[in-house]
Amino acid sequence: MGENVKVIVRCRPMNRKEIDKKSDSIVEIGDYAVSVVNPLARSAPRKSFTFDSVYNGLSKTETIYNDMCYSLVESTLEGYNGTIFAYGQTGCGKTHTMQGEGYSDAAENNGIIQRCFDHIFETISIATSVRYLALVSYLEIYNENIRDLLSANEPNSFKNHPLKDVPGVGVTVPTLTTQAVMNAMDCYNWLSVGNKNRITGATLMNEKSSRSHTIFTISLEQIQESAAAPPNLSSDQTIGNIRRGKLNLVDLAGSERQSKTGAFGDRLKEATKINLSLSALGNVISALVDSKTKHVPYRDSKLTRLLQDSLGGNTKTLMVACISPADSNYDETLSTLRYACRAKNISNVPTINEDPKDAQLRQYQEEILNLKRMLDESQQHESAVHYKFVEDNNKERERELWLEEAKSQMRQQMIAEMRNLKETTAEAANPKTEHSEQAVPQEQEDFQLHARKRIDLIKHSLIGGERVDDLQLRERHRMRKLEAKRHLSAIARALGRVESEDRDLLQGHYASIQQEINIKNERIKKCSQKIKMLEREVADLNSEFQLDREDYLDEIRYLGIQNKYWRIRFGMMISKPGNYPKTLKIT
Ligand code: ADP
Ligand code: MG
Repeated sequence: MGENVKVIVRCRPMNRKEIDKKSDSIVEIGDYAVSVVNPLARSAPRKSFTFDSVYNGLSKTETIYNDMCYSLVESTLEGYNGTIFAYGQTGCGKTHTMQGEGYSDAAENNGIIQRCFDHIFETISIATSVRYLALVSYLEIYNENIRDLLSANEPNSFKNHPLKDVPGVGVTVPTLTTQAVMNAMDCYNWLSVGNKNRITGATLMNEKSSRSHTIFTISLEQIQESAAAPPNLSSDQTIGNIRRGKLNLVDLAGSERQSKTGAFGDRLKEATKINLSLSALGNVISALVDSKTKHVPYRDSKLTRLLQDSLGGNTKTLMVACISPADSNYDETLSTLRYACRAKNISNVPTINEDPKDAQLRQYQEEILNLKRMLDESQQHESAVHYKFVEDNNKERERELWLEEAKSQMRQQMIAEMRNLKETTAEAANPKTEHSEQAVPQEQEDFQLHARKRIDLIKHSLIGGERVDDLQLRERHRMRKLEAKRHLSAIARALGRVESEDRDLLQGHYASIQQEINIKNERIKKCSQKIKMLEREVADLNSEFQLDREDYLDEIRYLGIQNKYWRIRFGMMISKPGNYPKTLKIT
């Protein structure tokens, strides 16, 4: 069944700088709507946008998680794909929402990502009939290059990992490191390893802000466990019925215009590329919600290719749009709200992923069977060497007896000769133990040890049901799940009510002609207000389009300057007399 991308808005509190500047708050947060006042025309009607939920500066990430993320993450444990992404201007709380406050160890400061870790492993630990294999990966898109944040070799390398479109699987990054994780702590560790490998840069707007997009992915493969046949990776029979849910946790770079960040030089180049990814994302969103557009330009950027399944595909998606309350950010706030509002109309078709072609569990099963086969061969070889050793020893014994007899005969005949012979037979009677050293070569032993360890490791990476007897935990989990479901139903009812009020008005039954006139007059008033609002919106969009145009022109100018610079530098310029020096010094 299709479902729309869920979109929520989180407005952060005023920050120190805004308070010091005595900024006004221009954002009003209702239950499901955000309205914004134009600071340059305060008497003009507010612009209002409706979302699945909206959160003010006092709202906690815990509340947002329980309301909007809990059910989505539960679904990934059932085999659905899920994506949670934060969008918005730099400094508006994307990283705060996704990753919490890095400096603090307190659980209350955790972001959505850490809460996902705790939640996932709690659910796995009380699973009754399912065993899971959990794998994580962490990538960064920086200047349209994909970097592997979990690779040991990556911190100093700028390797660009290629994307691959695998039919039936989707867009993947095959060379990305994936790490098997057994508990939430493993995930916390990998997240912090990855964060240390991120490229960060300071801008005027937010010193610590990252100028890149990141995607942390948790893949959850599961197999059913039955009493008769527990999941057995080392059995010759292919393990059946694998399901896989994938959870993408995305922290996007700032969506602001480059001019506002005071960026220039390399940073301008970054900003344009980052905006390129974000405008590609915007174009994908627009194409998806415009019924007339047939082509969705997923291929325009790395980000849109990687999020292809999350937008208009087989995924349950939640977008958290982060905004600032301050009047100085009016343009960006409005732009974020418009962007988010468009995303609300994207329809996805999430389905449980049954038997994915590239399931790691199957690859693990194959690996175990191969290792077992090699171990068997190695052991056979070892016993063959041992048998040969015994055989060789028997031959030595026969030879010894024969020599003993020869010795006694010779003793009587020639004492001198016998003495010589005795020396020879003494050597033969004490064979050197070279054979036993050769019996089990060290390499063989090392291989067997390594293979057994690897088999154990793979078998133990299957997790689930460790705390199934903890009834309190099971009850707490059941209640949270129920509460999350109730919350989503309440949203659906509330948003449905707005529509049904409109419907009632259209099909209204009137007690008298006067009542009909009053109601219809009221409706005309509302409609003309709406028309005025839409006309203003068109004018705003036009001016926004104008700003976009200027951004693109800036980019073209910048690329033109770069182009000239490189041509001069490499002496490839076909110079016109007088314009450029005839001989160019190449430095
Ligand atoms: P972004 O990732 O969007 O650039 P950050 O998450 O880094 O922004 O937030 C910028 C600053 O604002 C940080 O110091 C963060 O702690 C603070 N902040 C953001 N959102 C909130 C919030 N909802 N409540 C309290 N502080 C917040
Ligand atoms: Mg950030």
